[in-house]
Amino acid sequence: MPTDQHFDIIIIGTGAGGGTLARALSTTEKRILILERGEYLPREKENWDSATVVGKGHYKAHESWLDKTGREFHPSIHYWVGGNTKVYGSALIRFRKQDFGEIKHYGGTSLAWPISYEELEPYYLAAERLYRVHGLRGSDPTEPPSSGPFPHPAVSHEPAMQELFDGMTALGHRPFPMPLGIHLNEADREASTCVRCNTCDGFPCLVDGKSDAHVVGVRPALQNPQVTLLTGALVKRLLTNEAGTKVERVVVERANQLEHYSADIVVVAAGAVNSAALLLRSANDRHPNGLANGSGMVGRNYMAHQNSGMVCLSSRQNPTVFQKTMGLNDFYFGAADSELPLGHISMLGKLDGNALKAGAPGFVPLGMLNCMARHSFDFWLTSEDLADPENRVTLEPSGQIRVSYTPNNVEAHTRLVHKLKEMVGRLLPLGLKLDKRMPLEATAHQCGTLRFGNDPRQSVLNRDCRAHELDNLYVADASIFPSSAAVNPGLTIMANALRVADRIGAALSTPVNARALA
Ligand SMILES: Cc1cc2nc3c(=O)[nH]c(=O)nc-3n(C[C@H](O)[C@H](O)[C@H](O)COP(=O)(O)OP(=O)(O)OC[C@H]3O[C@@H](n4cnc5c(N)ncnc54)[C@H](O)[C@@H]3O)c2cc1C
Ligand code: SF4
Repeated sequence: MPTDQHFDIIIIGTGAGGGTLARALSTTEKRILILERGEYLPREKENWDSATVVGKGHYKAHESWLDKTGREFHPSIHYWVGGNTKVYGSALIRFRKQDFGEIKHYGGTSLAWPISYEELEPYYLAAERLYRVHGLRGSDPTEPPSSGPFPHPAVSHEPAMQELFDGMTALGHRPFPMPLGIHLNEADREASTCVRCNTCDGFPCLVDGKSDAHVVGVRPALQNPQVTLLTGALVKRLLTNEAGTKVERVVVERANQLEHYSADIVVVAAGAVNSAALLLRSANDRHPNGLANGSGMVGRNYMAHQNSGMVCLSSRQNPTVFQKTMGLNDFYFGAADSELPLGHISMLGKLDGNALKAGAPGFVPLGMLNCMARHSFDFWLTSEDLADPENRVTLEPSGQIRVSYTPNNVEAHTRLVHKLKEMVGRLLPLGLKLDKRMPLEATAHQCGTLRFGNDPRQSVLNRDCRAHELDNLYVADASIFPSSAAVNPGLTIMANALRVADRIGAALSTPVNARALA
């Protein structure tokens, strides 16, 4: 492809934000260039091999970042067409209505969003349709109001999960079917792409049954001949005009060559850490601290949730294959003994011996771990991470990324872990509970580094997710989050990307109507 080409829109990154945005904008006649540093994830038997995927981290990026002390770590990040959604668990749940306002937490107060839940709601509905979300309205007591049903019925529980679900209900809890974006047809299994396997959460889907941003976003977008995707295209810098008011050139490294592209509108959607790093790398005379960084907020307020995995070993066997069918939000806004929010509980994909090996002493044989896995019920706990300007992404003189982070709101998470331990202690015989707090390496839920807001002194982007300081620079990934809430981020990123598509359409006088997309 000849370089120095001009497009109407350039989108950088193809994950939950970029892939969804590309899909929405591809309904126009605009010439769109999508730049993705990764390649297509190979479809191979190893996609579903836990020793390869979990044990060897086969599909993770071979990259190391620094923590605040200068220690190197390998982030759990995936550079492919589809970004991190290629391996996500496709739990696609809306933020609660209250998450868009200020909420008092043990660790401080979360920030209000510049848009209300009501403004995002039609886009949530469109994202649920686009990503084929299965769920049951009204089953989650903290669920925000919705203008339509889930497009697909809730995924059924396997017997051991149903027993757990019934047990929780008998204790007075209100578990609900977890909203999941998979191409599953339980009424007609012959017509179902998804086969309900045990290698979904953390694995690529060999049969394209998972609603990831490649299958749902990029692939259909490329049906439009006006849309071009370049893979292996690492965006190095954004160059501005002399006044610093407009991105004029996108500098790309591809096959060890530098190439330049330009567009009327440039959208950054490289994931929260890489989007911030790109703006910092693009510092120039007009933007000496990084592009669009007059507020000093670029890279700050990194959040990734307080997350724990909990393995509950029971004398009862757990033969569940597809385990991620249940969620519990009873402690989302607090508990009888807590006026402040604790968080969200859901199931992990079913763990096996290779997955348990990651947290076990090296001398424990795989056979024993596999046996343990047959008796384990595997939970995922999430509490809100609060925006702290000192938790931030910076660049070393070498260009290497540093993520300085100190966990906050830890009391909420500790209490949540305790609540779950108490509950499973009453539900599962024996019930040995092993919980593990996710370390900095677990960057899966990264967000917040280019937050949007009404005050240019406190935020990088305006309410349209356009940079306060540049006329043609937009952001459409997890970095825009002013707060992290305590549920999975994916659906909110997708819904907001659809909203941003409409705002870009308006800026180009080309109606998109992303709310009608399905
Ligand atoms: C194992 C795992 C399980 C998860 N499970 C869930 C779940 O069940 N539910 C949920 O909601 N979320 C889940 N997540 C999180 C979810 O995947 C992310 O929140 C989401 O993908 C983030 O979207 P994004 O657009 O911000 O970034 P990404 O999806 O990370 O996309 C960024 C893209 O930009 C590309 N890129 C980066 N830098 C550059 C550059 N300089 N030039 C060009 N391209 C670049 C990357 O290759 C990537 O394709 C999970 C994540 C992981 C890792
Ligand atoms: S459970 Fe379904 S969507 Fe997930 S990896 Fe297996 S076949 Fe794919």
